[in-house]
Amino acid sequence: MNIDKLSEILSDQPAYRFKQVYKAIWQDLIDNFDQATTLPKELRQKLNDNCPLNINGELFKTDDKKTLKALLTLGDENKIETVLMMHNDGRHTVCVSAQVGCALRCGFCATGEMGFKRNLTVGEITEQVLFFARYIKKNYEPDDRVSNVVFMGMGEPFLNYQNVMSAIRLLNSEDGLGIGARKISISTSGIIEGIKKLSKEGLQVNLALSLHAPNDKMRQKLMPISKKYPLKKLISALDDYIQKTSRQVMIEYLLIKGINDWPETAQELADLLQGKLVVVNLIACNPVGDNKPSPEAVIKKFKHILERNGVVVTQRYRFGREIDAACGQLAAK
Ligand code: SAH
Ligand code: SF4
Repeated sequence: MNIDKLSEILSDQPAYRFKQVYKAIWQDLIDNFDQATTLPKELRQKLNDNCPLNINGELFKTDDKKTLKALLTLGDENKIETVLMMHNDGRHTVCVSAQVGCALRCGFCATGEMGFKRNLTVGEITEQVLFFARYIKKNYEPDDRVSNVVFMGMGEPFLNYQNVMSAIRLLNSEDGLGIGARKISISTSGIIEGIKKLSKEGLQVNLALSLHAPNDKMRQKLMPISKKYPLKKLISALDDYIQKTSRQVMIEYLLIKGINDWPETAQELADLLQGKLVVVNLIACNPVGDNKPSPEAVIKKFKHILERNGVVVTQRYRFGREIDAACGQLAAK
């Protein structure tokens, strides 16, 4: 698929053609312009030649069919992964990638291990959602649709800021998929410039911050990028963001056995976050490299300490480990 040239191809067309083309792509979910019968034949041909709609994807499913992973091959043969999670409450969440690989090399993450290849275009980001929108339309009930999008796949969304924002506006737009901004979340490893910019966008999207440690020493061991963004500055950016947007921020905290899961670490985290408009999302780390998830009892204790200190905590349900579709396991092997 390549819709990045759409505006160029339609530039000599009357305005209503845009509407027709958008409706065909995003509402009718066509995969070939021949199906767009409202368009003149020559235009369909031109669009098919320049903006092909077919998506080259290979699908993997867990046995319970609740997690689906698509390995998409891009125009230049690079591959990316995108994941659909079917929640029991009816939400259908697509986890999208923002980059091919990632330059930040967090020790616990398989994407980091593969290094950085390139940023994704707006078309390549949105096509991940479109792939599953089409899939759901073909295989599920008429009421089912992609309800949520999270930027928690491969790469760091704030290091591809412009394209990620344009993709979000397209997914959110009434002429696009019409996914509510409040149903879209961006997860960042803590790129301060991005947090600042997002606070000025006037978009109701959700911000998630991958913290994983309550002090610089521990955080720097886990996430090399935190050397550039010390915790003091990061927390101050977080405070500013909350003040500007009045929106709750999700703090992602990966629990890695024997590394960042001590009771005193929980206390330090509680002290750091107390009184802030945040919810801590505890995630048992998925095994990558030597890292092992904290045992259930340790997680429980960690959670209890946070709660005792008045910090709001949730625990992330694990999706898709058996097909390497879980957080931090995406590596396009
Ligand atoms: N680069 C961004 C977004 C992609 S990673 C970020 O780091 O936030 C999305 C989430 O998956 C992050 O919270 C990340 O810390 C988490 N993650 C990475 N490796 C993981 C692992 N092995 N197990 C569980 N979660 C992991
Ligand atoms: Fe990149 Fe996020 Fe993985 Fe770190 S956790 S290497 S920032 S994708």
